[in-house]
Amino acid sequence: MMNNEKGYQGSCFCGTVQFTVSGEPAGMGYCHCGSCRRWSAGPVNAFTLWKPEAVQITQGAENIGTYNKTLKSYRKWCKNCGGHIFTEHPEMGLTDVYAAVIPDFPYHAALHVNYQEAVLQVKDGLPKMKDLPNEMGGSGVTVAE
Ligand SMILES: [Zn+2]
Ligand SMILES: [Zn+2]
Repeated sequence: MMNNEKGYQGSCFCGTVQFTVSGEPAGMGYCHCGSCRRWSAGPVNAFTLWKPEAVQITQGAENIGTYNKTLKSYRKWCKNCGGHIFTEHPEMGLTDVYAAVIPDFPYHAALHVNYQEAVLQVKDGLPKMKDLPNEMGGSGVTVAE
C-alpha cells in the first residue's frame, strides 16, 4: 500500500480472510443482474470496483475459494464461513469488492446497473442503466426508475 493512499480493512464473515483496499475505486453502484442476485442470494449487489493491485490479501489467502461460471467473473468466497469477499472481472481489469465487506469504506453509489433485470425498484434519484455504461461495454441507455 502506498503511504499517500487511504486504506480500508475488509474481511469475510468469520474473519479468516482479511484484506485491504487502497486508493480510490474506479466506480461504485448497485447491480441488479440475475447473476449477482443468485450469487449473493440477495435482491441487489452493492459493488465497488478497484484495480486488482488495489486489493491486497493480508491474511487467509489459502482459504479463498474461486468459482467462475464464465470468463467474465471469478467469484471469491471464504472456504471456512462461505462468506463472499469479491469478484474478479479480468476482461474489465477490475475487481468488485462488495461494499458490505468493507464497512469502514465511505460507500457512495453513483448509479444502478442492469436495471432492466431489477426485482427491487429503488427510487433514490440515481441514474438507472438498462445494462451497463458504455465504458463498461454496455449500451449506455438509461431507463426510468
Ligand atoms: Zn470466513
Ligand atoms: Zn451483477
